Amino acid sequence: MHPYREYVNPHLGKLLEDIKMDKSYIRGEGCYLYDSEGNEYLDCIAAYGALPFGYNHPDIWECIHQIHNSMEPSFVQPSALNAAGELGKKLIENAPGNLRYVTFTNSGTETVEAAIKLCRSASGKLGILATNNSFHGKTLGALSATGKETYQKEFGAPVEGFNYVDYGNLEALEKKLKDNPEYFAAFIVEPIQGEGGIIEPPEGYLAGVREICDKYGVLLIFDEIQTGLGRTGKLFACQRQGVNPDLLLIAKALGGGIMPIGACLCTEQVYNEEFAEKHSSTFAANTMACRVGLKALDILLDNGGSLIEDVRIKGQIFKDGLIKLKQKYPKIIKSIRGQGLMLGIEFSITKDTFPGSLIGIMAEQELLTPIISSFLLNRECVRVAPTLNGANVIRIEPPLIINREQIFRALKGIENALEVLNQGNTAKLLSFLVDDGEAKHRDYENFVHREYPNVSPSENDEGRFAFIVHPLDLKNYMDFDKSLSAYSESELNDLTEKWNQMVDPFVVGKTRIISKCGSKAYGEFIVIPKTTEQLINSPRQQVLDELKSALKLAKSRGAGIVGLGAYTSVVSMGGLYLKDQGIPITTGNSYTVVTAVDSVTAALKKLNQNPSESVAAVVGATGSIGKGTSILISENVSKLILVGNPRNRRSSYARLYRVAAEVCKHISTLIHQGVTFDPGSIGDKLSKCGFLPDYDQPLQSFIEFVKSYDRKESPVIISTSVNEVLPLADVVISATSSVGKLITPANLKIGAIVCDMSRPANVSEEVEKTRPDVLAIDGGVIQVPGNADLGWDFGFDVGQAYACMSETIMLALEKHYKNTSIGASGISLKNILFTRELAEKHGFELARFRSFDRPLGDKKWERIIKSRNKCMIKKDVL
Ligand code: PLP
Repeated sequence: MHPYREYVNPHLGKLLEDIKMDKSYIRGEGCYLYDSEGNEYLDCIAAYGALPFGYNHPDIWECIHQIHNSMEPSFVQPSALNAAGELGKKLIENAPGNLRYVTFTNSGTETVEAAIKLCRSASGKLGILATNNSFHGKTLGALSATGKETYQKEFGAPVEGFNYVDYGNLEALEKKLKDNPEYFAAFIVEPIQGEGGIIEPPEGYLAGVREICDKYGVLLIFDEIQTGLGRTGKLFACQRQGVNPDLLLIAKALGGGIMPIGACLCTEQVYNEEFAEKHSSTFAANTMACRVGLKALDILLDNGGSLIEDVRIKGQIFKDGLIKLKQKYPKIIKSIRGQGLMLGIEFSITKDTFPGSLIGIMAEQELLTPIISSFLLNRECVRVAPTLNGANVIRIEPPLIINREQIFRALKGIENALEVLNQGNTAKLLSFLVDDGEAKHRDYENFVHREYPNVSPSENDEGRFAFIVHPLDLKNYMDFDKSLSAYSESELNDLTEKWNQMVDPFVVGKTRIISKCGSKAYGEFIVIPKTTEQLINSPRQQVLDELKSALKLAKSRGAGIVGLGAYTSVVSMGGLYLKDQGIPITTGNSYTVVTAVDSVTAALKKLNQNPSESVAAVVGATGSIGKGTSILISENVSKLILVGNPRNRRSSYARLYRVAAEVCKHISTLIHQGVTFDPGSIGDKLSKCGFLPDYDQPLQSFIEFVKSYDRKESPVIISTSVNEVLPLADVVISATSSVGKLITPANLKIGAIVCDMSRPANVSEEVEKTRPDVLAIDGGVIQVPGNADLGWDFGFDVGQAYACMSETIMLALEKHYKNTSIGASGISLKNILFTRELAEKHGFELARFRSFDRPLGDKKWERIIKSRNKCMIKKDVL
């Protein structure tokens, strides 16, 4: 592990490592940085403006050497400091307006602190007004002025006295000052918001600000820590608009790219005795920093300020180049902003730009600009960076000395990145994360994104749902984003592990369903970025927190009911842990039960097999789906084998007896209702056995009944051994939350029908390879009404959904916004039958069979029938 990550900042260290921005540079010269392998990187960040002359400018070093040669002392407070006096004089001579005194500091943020103290002490007022989305530094006073809650919350900021108005809005400023007379000491503002996303204010803003501040007797602070000293093609950005502040703040570039130094310039009226006597800093105004500051000013002002004029011209060339790229890629670039060599590319990418690509999701998760920056670094050897607050903006802030050739190289690199982005080509964009360059030339272009309907919620009276999903396996990622098939399995594995750590729950697809009877529902699919294994292995509380944030997202987006897909229902105990989150939920288990039984019944029918002559086994019979399925299927089959988890046999048995008892009680109820049963079926056998308790007896009597029944004779038996009992079953339904492959070629009867309701699947792929006689079907695949496109690809044909999704959709169609199908160990038969009715009413049907995650085509069906018949005949002969 790099010592930076190990000893300095483990969090940032890891993040940089994860997105491969963790390069260590061992040499910097001019606009270039070099790593230990000798790779050369063109720097267009310039330490956020602190490297006006690039790395290690010889004149700055010469100045430092001179100090060394002369042995001039550096920290000699208190005394009449020569270098500080000289630099103060030079700054005041070149500063706009009537600035008169300079307070030196060691950084930008301290400069802001000094300004706040100056204004408060000069005016006797507490209030400091700043702008939303501003950036003024991260010490507590400056952080309080920084109008971005994300940076403040955990640190007790803002401290007392701070308030904010929108940047660029003069009316808001005037209103605030008018409404709070005699409260505000100062208004602090950046002439161009830097970290906010390179935002230029409207024409005439600074002049208007000046006028309003004068009108209300409020001091005006221009924070030119980033814009000052030539960055925008003027010595100070405010000079472009001819507006003078009461305080002018500079830092960054004043240190010539080598020394830390800042300066707060203020007018005679602002400077005051209290401040003069009580403000100090040990390091501030030190000789070395001030001499370097003097040299930096010399370089900037040499030849009548020709370097700054050149910044203006080069800045325009760079900007024109970027504007051309915007014209070439209008789909992904929203604007090109900034002045001089302080430029920004604002991206317009959202999920809707590339519905079938992870790129839009990265953009929504504020990951895209870091990724683009890293692509440029690793693939194009150009360093750019996102701005701190402007999540969709990349800043371009090269050293002021950048030459035209370097500008064109940077533009070419940026164009290459934009080309990849414009294709929505996630795999190519992220390729630098998975290969070290040798696979640069692999075929990343061979994919076609699926088109999705562009739906949005309507004002109309339609149902609203959300459904929470998570990736079941790597294939899910490729199903969703087709470009990812360019990766090998291990590459995709590495990548998705990182991805899952970095992203929050997000919306992956949007859909509208119109049911058979004309009801409508709009819904969204929300992804929890955790694989099944991660969900099982992460601490439960962490998983639940993530699920709660997904529910919150669903609620904020207007869902009336939320379905818990795949393992999210298992880890929340069938939704029990989530039932009080202020939004109704469903596991979708009721309709899943219905489809398990219907699928098996349909398969039996297709194979001309009589249910009442068939033995059915339900693996995972004590779970919510297993139990419901056992009860429902008991109406039709000749014998039922309930299989429980062998891990804790005693408690499994206790639970299995209860399920068996419930099955018998259900049959007893049907008998009481006068239902007649096919000969040979469980109902037929139990009604004839003579000692079945009456339907209204307590469950305990049925438990006794089950226990007293001879195991060989009993139509309902229990077991915890799949290997022992599955060979007896004509039909196997698997509904466990186990991630293991419990159902193998060795434990299946000849010609068995297997319906796997479990996700991840419980049936081993070996069954497909070595047991052609077995019909293995994926349970719970539904054709939704109108074959609606669900808005994302999870591996099914368009118009198909899982049963649990379908239950969520039908509850939304019905506006049945109540907790439904909740609980880990049981759902009511009433509810199961309710969803059967709803499915019928709204037009949900079983889809064509799928097997091992693929549609079961006619050819495959015929092959199964053939080998099934062959094996059956053989069996009969034997
Ligand atoms: N003010 C502005 C406008 C800035 O851009 C910055 C830094 O980016 C600061 C203040 C804070 O400067 P520092 O990081 O040196 O504390």
